[in-house]
Amino acid sequence: MAFNDRGNSRGGSRGSSHGGGFRGGSSGPREMTKVICSDCGVETEVPFKPNEGRPVYCRECLPNHRKF
Ligand SMILES: [Zn+2]
Repeated sequence: MAFNDRGNSRGGSRGSSHGGGFRGGSSGPREMTKVICSDCGVETEVPFKPNEGRPVYCRECLPNHRKF
């Protein structure tokens, strides 16, 4: 059996094996998290940590799901 530990068996790039490098501090690079848009399915990055089970949208789709 080929046991792919970090292989590319999953198409997506969800690196959720470890819980992030949290460097406390307001200054510095934003932590971008790669996510898959729940609407169009494109891979995008968001400057926050999306909650599990919550849909995340790319920039294109976000306005469509924002109620303002
Ligand atoms: Zn989208």
